Amino acid sequence: MSFHQEIEHEIAGLRDAHLLRNPRVVSGAQGPTFRIGGREVIGLCSNNYLGLADHPALAEAMARSARELGVGSGASRHISGSMSVHKEAESALAAFVGLPSALLFSTGYAVNVGAIQGLVSRDDVVFSDALNHASLIDGCRLSRAQTHVYPHLDLDALSRLLASQRGSGRKALIVTDAIFSMDGDHAPLRELRALADRYDAGLMVDEAHSLGVFGPQGRGLCRALGIVPDVLIGTLGKSFGISGAFVAGSSAVVQLIENRARSYVFSTAPTAPIAAVTITATQLVEAADDRRDKVLFHAKRLREGLANLGYQVVKGDTPIVPAIIGEPEPTMRLSAALLERGVFVHGIRPPTVPVGTSRMRIVPIASHSDAHIDEALQAFADLRNLL
Ligand code: PMP
Repeated sequence: MSFHQEIEHEIAGLRDAHLLRNPRVVSGAQGPTFRIGGREVIGLCSNNYLGLADHPALAEAMARSARELGVGSGASRHISGSMSVHKEAESALAAFVGLPSALLFSTGYAVNVGAIQGLVSRDDVVFSDALNHASLIDGCRLSRAQTHVYPHLDLDALSRLLASQRGSGRKALIVTDAIFSMDGDHAPLRELRALADRYDAGLMVDEAHSLGVFGPQGRGLCRALGIVPDVLIGTLGKSFGISGAFVAGSSAVVQLIENRARSYVFSTAPTAPIAAVTITATQLVEAADDRRDKVLFHAKRLREGLANLGYQVVKGDTPIVPAIIGEPEPTMRLSAALLERGVFVHGIRPPTVPVGTSRMRIVPIASHSDAHIDEALQAFADLRNLL
């Protein structure tokens, strides 16, 4: 077959397996509702947990910065310099998470790939939870460090691996999500910190789904538990309502990443408006206790309501409410039927989740009303027999 025939063949394979992705086109801002195909629907599938993505103060901060500083960052910071607004944003983020230093990246994917590859190499050893985010997995691969994947949350297995494999690496790094993005469960961070200390390893925690939602003033799970990670990852595209990400840690950890992370060194810096709006978003997140309460309240109602309807809901206390369906075809059928009923939830399929665990990942945001949640639960009730 020719190159193009092979491509068509692979696409057909994805389509036949109900795994071909074709995101809906939504118009209007990312808020509690969307317009899809001219209709207003309730959106229950973003990571805009606190509902800040359409906040006027953020739009204003970006617009002001764009007028004053332009919209381009010129090049990588190693080429055209750090703009002072990058430094100000990094100070705000470091203070927010209570660590000495922080470095901005364009996305969470880029920071995870870059931070791991920047910190460990062929001579080192990494221990990684089996359900870590794809960007952490790809970082381990890119680093070429010997990587040992331990079963999800299994501290005994990790302990055994550390005992048998720690010695084969110069440096060791334990890598984990704080809250796992597709199941919404928590990593045992205190125990991981203790194991890291016992085996003289670093601990890297990706707080993508916990910053803004958990901890005092939204400062995350590490702060809530009183533990200090060696490397903390935060993303700005979720609770912060914007886009971008950062790594925080000691000045030495951050300096090595700044020097070595290929996704930082060889990539154009985040723009000035993104850096400027990061500062405003950090202030809004700190002050958002009411929004934190609201999103967690909505999530609890959805979790309980869906379980009462007989859906197989993963237990938890985060805004991520997964209802496991199983195979991709019924998952996408339910997603399409929900949209017909005015509720937008994308089905999640492999490789994002393991085979056999396709699911609806239902996520409320703080700016939903109680009536939105009632309406969504009614649609799930009416469609229960579809499966
Ligand atoms: N880490 C985790 C745990 C995530 O869920 C995601 C993506 N949603 C990322 C990192 C990547 O962040 P970004 O979307 O900013 O690339």
